Amino acid sequence: MYVVSRRDDLAVLRIALEEQYERHRTQLALLARQTRRLPGDGADVAATSALAAASRRALGDIARALHYLEQGRYGTCAGCRRDIPIEELARRPSTRLCGTCRPGARRQRHP
Ligand SMILES: [Zn+2]
Repeated sequence: MYVVSRRDDLAVLRIALEEQYERHRTQLALLARQTRRLPGDGADVAATSALAAASRRALGDIARALHYLEQGRYGTCAGCRRDIPIEELARRPSTRLCGTCRPGARRQRHP
């Protein structure tokens, strides 16, 4: 077989997503422990809670991506409904927009 199907690619991405999910969960657990050891306020607490918020957001994104994968809706751009290229998904597995529809990447519009 010389053609790698999109489905195979998505299966690989699913593994990557699951790994990322675990990584963020570990990160959150570590941050929670760290927060308990820090004094009540100050820059460290602010930095730690910013990191925790980012991890929580990422967990939400990844959970949604995995949910879409299960439903077979994963990898379709929420903006233009085209398939998001696999390379794009590999770079940002939880993205819902293709490179063209993503804010800040408006240079290369669809013809
Ligand atoms: Zn798009």
